[in-house]
Amino acid sequence: MNVAVVTVGDELLAGDTANTNATWLCGELTDRGVDVRRVITLPDVVGDIARVVNEYRAEYDAVVITGGLGPTHDDLTMESVAAAFGREVAPSQAAEDWLVEQGGYSADVLDPGTTSIPKGAEPLHNQVGVAPGCVLENVYVLPGVPAEMKAMFADVAGNFSGPERFVRQVAVDEPESHLVDRFEALRERFDVSVGSYPGDHVRVKLSGTDREAVEGAEAWLRDRVDVLEE
Ligand code: ATP
Ligand code: MG
Repeated sequence: MNVAVVTVGDELLAGDTANTNATWLCGELTDRGVDVRRVITLPDVVGDIARVVNEYRAEYDAVVITGGLGPTHDDLTMESVAAAFGREVAPSQAAEDWLVEQGGYSADVLDPGTTSIPKGAEPLHNQVGVAPGCVLENVYVLPGVPAEMKAMFADVAGNFSGPERFVRQVAVDEPESHLVDRFEALRERFDVSVGSYPGDHVRVKLSGTDREAVEGAEAWLRDRVDVLEE
């Protein structure tokens, strides 16, 4: 299963808010065996969001989009997702009922914009905040507030799965540029993904769906590099 993550908000593009939702979602999806192929950040602009959602829902098995759900002027995600499907938004009776029954809200003070989702979408209830998310075919619309997003993702996490991946890390105490030949030989020998992440030392990440291949690659590499003593 492959997925695209779409984060929405002018504040993300301005550098005012760190995009922790993208990082968190990528980790959760990867842990479930999903292949995350794209992360994109978009401004609060209906045309931009609708265009990308329309493209990605065709390209990937699922699209997870966060941010811009509230009823304020800059919360345009529901309208944009509806536009991507050529639909309108409409207040969801199921979402309103849930807020009245579970959230203790009075129906007459709820702004209809608050419960509006694309027509035909299934609402996702917001256990932590107010604005509902929704699922429309393979598009999952989640809130921007991290605690709300995490709680709502937990309700749909079961829909995201893939083959178990095995991961091994090796901390190498050599300059990255010295490792080129060994990486080449490693990749020829073993059917694993090799990530090389330099910092104080080089963190080499070996991963794949074949446990023996990953463990074999780790042993092979440990025998041939200066492993950092930890
Ligand atoms: P609500 O459901 O509460 O109305 P929302 O879906 O409308 O939330 P936004 O208005 O887009 O969400 O953002 C609310 C807050 O969530 C922002 O002030 C920001 O701090 C945080 N936020 C939004 N997107 C992200 C993100 N990708 N990573 C981390 N924080 C984010
Ligand atoms: Mg916003």
